[in-house]
Amino acid sequence: MTPADDAPRDHTEAGPRFSPRVFSGIKPSGGLTLGNYLGAIKRFVETQNAGTDSIFCVVDLHAITVWQDPGELARATREVAAGYLASGIDPERAILFNQSQVHEHAELGWIFNCVARVGWMNRMTQFKEKAGKNAEKQSLGFYAYPSLMAADILLYLATHVPVGEDQKQHVELTRDIAAKFNHDYGVEQFPLTEPVIEGPATRVMNLRDGSKKMSKSGESDMERINMTDDADTISKKFRKARTDPAPLPETLDGLADRAEARNLVGIYAALTDRTAGEVIAEYAGAGWGTFKPALADLAVDKLSPIAAEMRRMMDDPAEIDRILARGADRAREIAAPVLARTYEIVGLVGRGRGRSA
Ligand code: ATP
Ligand code: MG
Repeated sequence: MTPADDAPRDHTEAGPRFSPRVFSGIKPSGGLTLGNYLGAIKRFVETQNAGTDSIFCVVDLHAITVWQDPGELARATREVAAGYLASGIDPERAILFNQSQVHEHAELGWIFNCVARVGWMNRMTQFKEKAGKNAEKQSLGFYAYPSLMAADILLYLATHVPVGEDQKQHVELTRDIAAKFNHDYGVEQFPLTEPVIEGPATRVMNLRDGSKKMSKSGESDMERINMTDDADTISKKFRKARTDPAPLPETLDGLADRAEARNLVGIYAALTDRTAGEVIAEYAGAGWGTFKPALADLAVDKLSPIAAEMRRMMDDPAEIDRILARGADRAREIAAPVLARTYEIVGLVGRGRGRSA
């Protein structure tokens, strides 16, 4: 037994019990979309407002797994931060920062690269879908990114990760990494984190192809609603959104084989905090000429005050940088002792010095 094993522990150290804590992140790989808002940010704000200990990150080290123009990366980093803040993340209640300011992420990521197995990474469907036939030409970082994501989460011993449906497999991988680390070293250092995938918009689809999800890095601007789109652009994109010609059905079952229609109803439901069933009850039998303009008006109502606040913040980048730096300091206070203890468990000499005595 080392002295550290006998020492009293708080929830930031290894131990069998972990306090509830939420962590989640968004990549600055482009402008924020309605998918990011409904599937992630809106739910983060609800979590924060419910009083849960919450940490939200702009995951810039993930963004560079594909090429990013340096100036555009810096701009997008501040824009994602502005999106969080304008949507209601309070940097005093939650911790808000960008990943690269807390070097512990990259360091724990390396340890996890040595825990995760190549076979596990080969099963990641997102890599297979995004890389397609060009797997050999992808960066090594892009292939390994789920292991850095595990580090982002476990560095804070986070118990819950609210994400969209597309990230479910990566949170499951995080659990596998935590379990293998704990098992291999005979410790209970990391929690088995739960993905939280809830609400009517956990997978907002591409407006031009209902079989693909809406993404900020998608090819065409017409396939997504950006949080900063103006009212005319939002109306035009919904008007041109692909649908089948049939009117809205009388019941939810009638949407089963109609991906595009189901998507638009789901967006409407999420924007109004209702269920898809309630929206169908209101619009049963309505044609697209009625439903699409109603949806566009609703999206404009919800997004335009947020977009205005984002623009205001983007005019003062120094203030955003100040908020991110302060968040990074607070994040590091949690991350540093967790990483130090992890190094000590692994047998890396020096970092645990002074902390475990
Ligand atoms: P990229 O195309 O660069 O991967 P993205 O739009 O997928 O961008 P991410 O930064 O990868 O955004 O994901 C941030 C969060 O938004 C994650 O929790 C993810 O699950 C969620 N999210 C992304 N797209 C959608 C979507 N279409 N519907 C619901 N949630 C989504
Ligand atoms: Mg993504």
